[in-house]
Amino acid sequence: MITQAPRGTYDLYGEQVRKWQSIEKTIARLMEDFHYGEIRTPIFEHTELFQRGVGDTTDIVQKEMYTFLDKGNRSITLKPEGTAGAARAFLEHKMFADPQPTKLYYITPCFRYEKPQAGRDRQFSQFGVELYGSAEAAADAEVISVAYELLKRLGIHNVTLHINSLGCRECRAKYNQELRDYFERYKDSLCETCKERLERNPLRILDCKNPQCREIVEGAPSVLDALDQDCREHFEKVQAYLSGMGIPFVVDPGIVRGLDYYTRTVFEFVCDEIGAQGTVCAGGRYDHLIEELGGSSVPAVGFAAGIGRMILAMEAANGTMQTETPLDLYVGSMGEKASIEALSLVYRLRALHVSAESDLLGRSVKAQMKYANKRGARYTMILGETELETGKASLKNMESGESETVDFRNIQEWRNQLS
Ligand code: ATP
Ligand code: MG
Repeated sequence: MITQAPRGTYDLYGEQVRKWQSIEKTIARLMEDFHYGEIRTPIFEHTELFQRGVGDTTDIVQKEMYTFLDKGNRSITLKPEGTAGAARAFLEHKMFADPQPTKLYYITPCFRYEKPQAGRDRQFSQFGVELYGSAEAAADAEVISVAYELLKRLGIHNVTLHINSLGCRECRAKYNQELRDYFERYKDSLCETCKERLERNPLRILDCKNPQCREIVEGAPSVLDALDQDCREHFEKVQAYLSGMGIPFVVDPGIVRGLDYYTRTVFEFVCDEIGAQGTVCAGGRYDHLIEELGGSSVPAVGFAAGIGRMILAMEAANGTMQTETPLDLYVGSMGEKASIEALSLVYRLRALHVSAESDLLGRSVKAQMKYANKRGARYTMILGETELETGKASLKNMESGESETVDFRNIQEWRNQLS
């Protein structure tokens, strides 16, 4: 018998799922305020959507994907991230023909075959936004402000925004060459992975956690010196917009992203209090992705934030979170007739958005009240023979201990007291 979920996956229930719900609610409200529309794309896609060519050098695509053949012998991949699916949908449904920009958001499970550890799972959820159709720095800044505002509303004040620019394709090619030349000189001291990266993608060496590699990285040329005039101006404008909104940031030329498609702006919100996997939210501009997928050239910018990591950061910031949903009223009962009356009463209250419960286990009144207490009921009421005959019952405020006699069938008369 299997009584354990697969490695790197987890169940959400109780207190934990309430935290997730609270984040999801905050996101829904946030996205109304920023005017982004939700998009839900399939959990699996054709593998080619993620593996777009031999040039792909990312760990995610090379090593971490859950890929399998379906019964029709097609290669299918569980989505490792949200952007590719959203971009495919943008093209498939010709959203480029709508008034631009197109502003989308998603909350989606993602799957990566990684070594599980704190903040790194094999199934995890991302909240992400995608803004298509603008190459302007204002769009980069708006997208960053979405993440900033979310973290603020969640009380995650223990994060720092790091921004960088990787330049356009031309700047990047030039910079890659500079990096190759530089690291070539230290080749023998680099770790095995970085030796490989030297050929495929020297930019990733900047991201290596190996102490010896880190030391070498310190002397590496900065990408910011390799930017051409346009890219430099774009990056300066992003900073001006951020300052205009009062969003604090640090320019960090060490920020390189795990996915290959980024150009110009990249950014991360990093929390130092949740261990090695401190990046809560990461994103940037990807002006060539839509083109790579077979569309015409549509600039885009977005980010993805891991919900699990947001919760870790939130716990580190606040200690605890107020997530318990209050039970407004518990209606206890004695005997079968009263039990029918009690369930009918809570049913009518629930229709009026009062959260209410009655006994479903045939327990004694004493046990029922004990349960009501454990559930933190704000009010209680007990129905027995006398109450049924007279139509009167005592409504008890559990906090003050005060009781009041009410005409219990006439809900309208007393329900306002509960909320
Ligand atoms: P990392 O540095 O964690 O490897 P990445 O470059 O792989 O990050 P992205 O692909 O940009 O990350 O994903 C965006 C966000 O999704 C991350 O910042 C993180 O919050 C979350 N995330 C990524 N991988 C995982 C994972 N395996 N488990 C939990 N959350 C994850
Ligand atoms: Mg990763």
